[in-house]
Amino acid sequence: MNTEATRPRQMAEGVFWLGGCLSAFSSGHEVHYHVSAYLVMGSRASILVDTGDPGHALLVLAQLEHALGGRPLDYVFPTHPEIPHAGNLPMLLAAYPDARIVGDTRDYHLHFPEFDGRLERRSAGDSLDLGGREIRFLPAHIRDLENTLWAHDSGSGTLFVSDGFSFIHDIPQPEEDDEPVHLPGQCRLFSGEMPEPPSVEQAAYGTGRALYWTRFVDVTSAFTDIEDTLEQLPTSFIAPAHGNVIDDVDGMLRTSLAAHRRVYGAERSPQ
Ligand SMILES: [Zn+2]
Ligand SMILES: [Zn+2]
Repeated sequence: MNTEATRPRQMAEGVFWLGGCLSAFSSGHEVHYHVSAYLVMGSRASILVDTGDPGHALLVLAQLEHALGGRPLDYVFPTHPEIPHAGNLPMLLAAYPDARIVGDTRDYHLHFPEFDGRLERRSAGDSLDLGGREIRFLPAHIRDLENTLWAHDSGSGTLFVSDGFSFIHDIPQPEEDDEPVHLPGQCRLFSGEMPEPPSVEQAAYGTGRALYWTRFVDVTSAFTDIEDTLEQLPTSFIAPAHGNVIDDVDGMLRTSLAAHRRVYGAERSPQ
């Protein structure tokens, strides 16, 4: 495990960027892949968005204890039931015996029958009052599972987008690897702090295979929906599970839309 990503970053009042990076080598260069989780604390309750990778279980637990500062964890919200997003649930629910799982938990009892009594199903449009701020659950306009949800924190204006908005940054000639990666030293940087913003090519690269379905459907309507969401819910940060936190929301939206269109256009040749 690399050490750079082991420090949580406080993004705003009551919001912490947690989790770790997986590291690999691409063309002889070390590259990192985020598996992030985010803690949001209100005056009354706290929620962890995604769980981090099971390979980072002890790291996430230590980061969480530090960020919580002695408070309990009240809710865990895996954006969807896949290992990098929900894999640490058993560890977290053991460490925080009063924590409940919220989200679209329709099939979680199949993955975690032992936690059936701690599931609280929420749907897009529902909100959760944390005290002084609320989490609004949203449809995932870019997703890889049917029961993926996004969420928005009213206190910091953070939009949590799960597998959406993952970009690669500064990677020399990636070959087989199709993951959205960054370089060592960039683990906790906001997009606006990166040496260069990702190009459309880099954004398209992360999109093309990680979210396979985007090749086969027209994503324009998804981006219209995202723009509507951003209009309704003031957003300062876009927080993906597998990419650097985006603080240049408008610029990244344009880059990302162009990237999705490029992937879409490349896969569907004109008639
Ligand atoms: Zn993911
Ligand atoms: Zn990293």
